[in-house]
Amino acid sequence: MKSVNRRDFLKLTGSGLIGMTIGGVALRANAQERVDPASQQAAALKYVEKSPVEGSYCDNCMYIAGEDGADWRPCAIFPGKVVAAKGWCSAWMKKP
Ligand code: SF4
Repeated sequence: MKSVNRRDFLKLTGSGLIGMTIGGVALRANAQERVDPASQQAAALKYVEKSPVEGSYCDNCMYIAGEDGADWRPCAIFPGKVVAAKGWCSAWMKKP
């Protein structure tokens, strides 16, 4: 069995920590990507960052997720992206 000296151990754990950090930053950045209103799916659903319909906003839609009060939140209709809390799209359904 090969023993691992202190230098090798630090190299291994250091590279592991760097890899985990980079992976975490990548996941966080991906989770925070905003829906582009000009994208094909958003345009098809008429998504806008400021609702034209009084009383209907992303933050009171049944498809919204994430924390109440946040300006940008995940939406089940746009997986992996966030929408404006004050936005709207034609898939809007009142939160029960
Ligand atoms: S489905 Fe539409 S209205 Fe509802 S949270 Fe998502 S983008 Fe906003």
